[in-house]
Amino acid sequence: MTAEGTVFNIQHFTIHDGPGIRTEVFLKGCPLHCLWCSNPESLKAEVQPGVYRKKCIGRKNCGACEEACPRTDAGAGGGLAKAGRTASPLRFYRNRLVAIDYTLCNGCMACAEACPSEAVKAWGRRMTADQIMQEVRRDKGYYDRSGGGITVSGGEPLLQTELTAELFRQCREEGIHTCCETCLCIPWERVEELLPLTDLWIADLKMMDPEKHRAFTGAGNERILENLQKLAGNPETELILRIPVIPGVNDNMENMRQTADFILGEMQGNVRTLQLLSYMRLGMEKYESLGLPYQMTDRLKEAHFRRDYFQRKVRNFADYFNSRGIHTLVGTREKQ
Ligand code: SF4
Ligand code: SF4
Repeated sequence: MTAEGTVFNIQHFTIHDGPGIRTEVFLKGCPLHCLWCSNPESLKAEVQPGVYRKKCIGRKNCGACEEACPRTDAGAGGGLAKAGRTASPLRFYRNRLVAIDYTLCNGCMACAEACPSEAVKAWGRRMTADQIMQEVRRDKGYYDRSGGGITVSGGEPLLQTELTAELFRQCREEGIHTCCETCLCIPWERVEELLPLTDLWIADLKMMDPEKHRAFTGAGNERILENLQKLAGNPETELILRIPVIPGVNDNMENMRQTADFILGEMQGNVRTLQLLSYMRLGMEKYESLGLPYQMTDRLKEAHFRRDYFQRKVRNFADYFNSRGIHTLVGTREKQ
């Protein structure tokens, strides 16, 4: 039986995560929750509904979500209100759906299916490896001409190791280049399982200080550093390392110096390219749809963030790494 998992996006014709033209498969669920995450819909492993309140045409005119939801009085299997409880997960304000209470929601997605105006979006869907491969195969001609292939990203793809391995196995059989983009905050055994199937690894090294790492991502970096050492120690590994440079979080020279020491001392310099990714304010509407606060706002104020100044700072960091013999680029394109 083909492996199955939860996917939140399949993007065709991407050019940023690996060589050539690629199809990128984003899997749901992540062991980290970085303050600056631009894909907040990837954090939870389960499928969940998100609300785009401006698209709601009104409870009085429509109310389809309420009728469909099994957790409301109006919906199939309702009767909660009759039982003296106000347990609906759907939150309305001034006639519009504005939020979903996830503590009361069972993730059935009946609301998203019923909504005529796409005010409720299903974040994530269950898919089998065969279903994903049907989409991946469509672009085989582009991979062959450009040296591209598949990139499995997330979220954290190695939380769904079985699915990722099955995809890579099928890609290998069909001559499609495989790339895994991972945060490496996972048990080494999962990386090991993917080693023989992965042509290229893309991994993050967000910051060297374990306490800061814990404070800004929700987990320490000990396991990540250990996995990076092991990965770099494998002679077969081809690795792109990334630092998302985030204002007021890791954009200081001491962190960059320690990172360079680690790459040269503990990873034997076995990094094909180091890519510095400048902070971008992305995914705001997705945060809103999930009722999540965007916590970078205060940090940007504290850091007196100015894009032009910040870009210069990132370029200076790249110059520093290059001066230490680590091939470093700003951004994700390898040919600049
Ligand atoms: S996903 Fe949640 S809110 Fe939507 S219909 Fe199902 S239980 Fe109700
Ligand atoms: S089904 Fe969609 S448009 Fe209708 S009330 Fe619910 S959210 Fe609004």
